[in-house]
Amino acid sequence: MTQIFRMEIPVPFPVETVNVFLVKGETLTLIDTGTNTDDAWNALVQQMGRIGHHPREIENVVITHHHADHCGLLDRLPRDIPVIGHPWNEPWVTQSPELLKSYQQFFAELGAQMGIPEAFMRKGPSLTRTLAYSCRRSLTHSVREGDHIDALPGFTVLETPGHASTHIALYREEDGLFIGGDVLLRHISSNPLLEPPCHGETERAKPLLQYNDTLRRLGDMPVLRVLAGHGPDVTEVRPLVQERLHKQEQRAQKVWHMLREHPMTAFEVCRELFPALYQKQLALTLSETVGQLDVLQYNQQVSIDTSGPHWVYHTR
Ligand SMILES: [Zn+2]
Repeated sequence: MTQIFRMEIPVPFPVETVNVFLVKGETLTLIDTGTNTDDAWNALVQQMGRIGHHPREIENVVITHHHADHCGLLDRLPRDIPVIGHPWNEPWVTQSPELLKSYQQFFAELGAQMGIPEAFMRKGPSLTRTLAYSCRRSLTHSVREGDHIDALPGFTVLETPGHASTHIALYREEDGLFIGGDVLLRHISSNPLLEPPCHGETERAKPLLQYNDTLRRLGDMPVLRVLAGHGPDVTEVRPLVQERLHKQEQRAQKVWHMLREHPMTAFEVCRELFPALYQKQLALTLSETVGQLDVLQYNQQVSIDTSGPHWVYHTR
């Protein structure tokens, strides 16, 4: 009989902790890891110790996505074990120089398009700051939609992009259990984050559109419990999905009304939408803003004037 233990690991990010899951069946498998920090390592040692284990006994690791709080501690786990995740994690978990270059280039171009003032651009994107807590290690196995993982019998891999392009969840149909990473969190909404186009694509993904699709899919599944990447389990899945989708719709309409007053750049929208936050958390708030603009554009409620130095959004 498989047992699943939730361990809450401290991380040096505003969310403060991340949940990792130790699955004890025929083998010992860790799902997500915590950051590459001493505090995270000590917490993992201590919490595994309570159930009579040590991280050196871990036989497989699965990561739900490439963010440092979910994969950073990979660096300190046994070297010879399978590391499993979506194939697109690879440039992030190895911190490939090409990725860093394309990331910087992408944000420079995006910054100009979105009308971000020079002073903000000089601070640079926050990626390099979070990568300091991440790992440099390769996947050994990659999984895609519908795949099964030997170490996790009964679970199916689902691709759940939006919060990250690399995001997967693990679903056990037999009892409706969904190991969800950051797909659905009870107390905070999960941010769709902008990423550079990867894997041969030339255009960026539209993370909020992807995330809404992921949420709708989850809402249509007979999921009884979500083991979440942050905070408590979610058992009222459908109502929470509806609430998140509703909030998103309201925010998109708020942006539409702002643009009806007068056309704006994405940066101007961001400043008006998050007056207290945008300076401190530009990457996050801009991702959210661009997400809403993507949704409005997709729904043909706004169009973009790309003739000037900055893109200007206006209602249609
Ligand atoms: Zn994340």
